[in-house]
Amino acid sequence: MSQAFFRCSSCGGINRIDAQRLAEGPVCGRCHKPLDRSAAPAEVDDDALERLIKASPVPVLVDFWAPWCGPCLMLAPHVTALAQRFAGRLIVVKLNTEEHQRVASKLQIRSIPTMIVWKGGEIANRQVGAVMGPQLDAVVTPYL
Ligand SMILES: [Zn+2]
Repeated sequence: MSQAFFRCSSCGGINRIDAQRLAEGPVCGRCHKPLDRSAAPAEVDDDALERLIKASPVPVLVDFWAPWCGPCLMLAPHVTALAQRFAGRLIVVKLNTEEHQRVASKLQIRSIPTMIVWKGGEIANRQVGAVMGPQLDAVVTPYL
């Protein structure tokens, strides 16, 4: 991996960082805030999600969740770990379907958690229900 891609959690800008420079504490090219190199999943709204899907040069995994959903809360730390494991090669965000319904309704998401992988602006995979370990990895690895 010579280049890594990170979404700025402050402005949503996508940054391409040379792998050799990752250790130098890179800042966002747009807003100049420090980039979170741990790639912890950020919460996005419908607009930010649609912008991200269009702009991202790497696959995007979206965790559609809601605060009242037990399995979603159980899944969350596993999704965070996944995001960190594939940092730079995958962008992971979360969308709270209780607060933001437009995209979830357009995609006819009726059950949460649902995870959707976009690649090149198209839906590449859709996983309904919580999965963990190797099954969770398998949701994204074919598209990396
Ligand atoms: Zn920024």
